[in-house]
Amino acid sequence: MFELKVVTHFAAAHQLKMVAEKCENLHGHNWKIEVCLIGEKLDSAGILIDFGEIKQHVARIMKRLDHRFLNETPPFNDGTPPSSENIAQFVATELQAALRKPAVKVSRVSAWESDNACATYIPA
Ligand SMILES: [Zn+2]
Repeated sequence: MFELKVVTHFAAAHQLKMVAEKCENLHGHNWKIEVCLIGEKLDSAGILIDFGEIKQHVARIMKRLDHRFLNETPPFNDGTPPSSENIAQFVATELQAALRKPAVKVSRVSAWESDNACATYIPA
């Protein structure tokens, strides 16, 4: 099994209710997003999937989040809390849908909201 990882960033604001008191205030993070893809078969060039293709897909997803107030941005504008956990799940779901190689799967997405705090979503 091979695993590829791509790291990217976006900056945004959010507001979480019912968590620690300071999270209830509007605030921002510079999120670091790590996406991991797994697959067993390499193509004739010896790669699982082109890093450039992964980066393009991830950049398209980041564009939807970057410099936004996440609570008012789809898919979080329906009341889904824009927590790092839900951000990681959103990125994983969107990335999997964008991938055109069925043999390549999103294995995990981590959303770092600070240098020492990270939420990871692992698709079932
Ligand atoms: Zn926060």
